[in-house]
Amino acid sequence: MLISNSFGLRVKAKNFLSIDTPEDLSKLDAIKDNSILILGACTNVILNKDINQTIVQVNYKDIKMFEDYLSVGGGVDWVDFIEYCLNNNLYGIENLTHIPGSVGAAPVQNIGAYGVEVSSFIHSVECFNLLTKQQETIDRAQCKFEYRNSIFKSKNYIILKVNFIFPKTFEPDLSYPALANYLIDNSINTKSLTPQLLSESVKNLRNSRLPDPRLEPNVGSIFKNPLVKTNDFDRHFLIGHKWEQDNGMTKLSAARLIELIKFELSIPETLRIYENHSLVLINNGEASFDDVKSLLDQIGVKIFNKFNVELEIEPEIISS
Ligand SMILES: Cc1cc2nc3c(=O)[nH]c(=O)nc-3n(C[C@H](O)[C@H](O)[C@H](O)COP(=O)(O)OP(=O)(O)OC[C@H]3O[C@@H](n4cnc5c(N)ncnc54)[C@H](O)[C@@H]3O)c2cc1C
Repeated sequence: MLISNSFGLRVKAKNFLSIDTPEDLSKLDAIKDNSILILGACTNVILNKDINQTIVQVNYKDIKMFEDYLSVGGGVDWVDFIEYCLNNNLYGIENLTHIPGSVGAAPVQNIGAYGVEVSSFIHSVECFNLLTKQQETIDRAQCKFEYRNSIFKSKNYIILKVNFIFPKTFEPDLSYPALANYLIDNSINTKSLTPQLLSESVKNLRNSRLPDPRLEPNVGSIFKNPLVKTNDFDRHFLIGHKWEQDNGMTKLSAARLIELIKFELSIPETLRIYENHSLVLINNGEASFDDVKSLLDQIGVKIFNKFNVELEIEPEIISS
């Protein structure tokens, strides 16, 4: 079967298992060599043309309110979940509006945008542990959330449900300069800001900077923003494009680094760097896995040679 993915690559897989109920988990036992590939909406993966593993997709779609938390099925679309929060006075998550993908994938790379990360709202994650073959609930501390990272990157867990908690009052996080500036530029008074208006603003801001994958196939940011030791890195050319963290580290803008070398790249016709955001790679049509992989390697090598900075690819590269 063909696997639809936001990068528009032609991908075929032999086997597919949809987990719709807890009973479906027993079907995992029949998979030879335990060779599975867990996928959600395929907006953060770069897949090779033939996938030999069995693709497992969680399709739990329930949203249930419990006394302490909101339980959300891993198969719920993230955009629908944000809509649900806005309609039910669940505050805080507005900055994560319009990120494509599924709820089940959100903890994997601890999705984040405009100064907010999903980990701030996670109470616990309900999973199937592929090593013990048991279902378990992992609390937030055990998830080991970091910038675009968590224990779920280990591939030992299938996330079935995510349990969320929310602050009791609406206290918008406007610490991210681009968001604060958008509100000023659009004469939106922060005192009269509502969750709906903040969410709408984030959506508009995103649409002005990021291409819609349905029109311009892409996987969002192609590299993580690299972290370097502040003392080791004294580069004036990145002023305005680096952010000091409170742990002796500085985060650099990967987009800026790419802008500085993009004219030295040899880019195949099937791909292009998005005009409004250098961190986004677009499939112009018929790009192959090898086209993408070799361009990413080329960018990584150029940036390392020129700036002595190692870039890490953000989406998962799945070569077979
Ligand atoms: C236009 C665009 C904009 C984006 N903007 C942002 C952004 O602002 N911030 C951000 O953080 N990300 C962003 N992304 C990346 C992407 O939206 C997120 O990473 C999203 O959470 C991926 O969801 P998915 O369901 O498509 O996961 P997939 O791409 O299918 O999978 C991603 C990873 O999660 C694993 N996975 C998926 N589901 C499960 C599960 N149920 N259990 C265990 N593992 C699982 C997969 O094995 C894979 O490693 C963007 C992507 C695009 C295309």
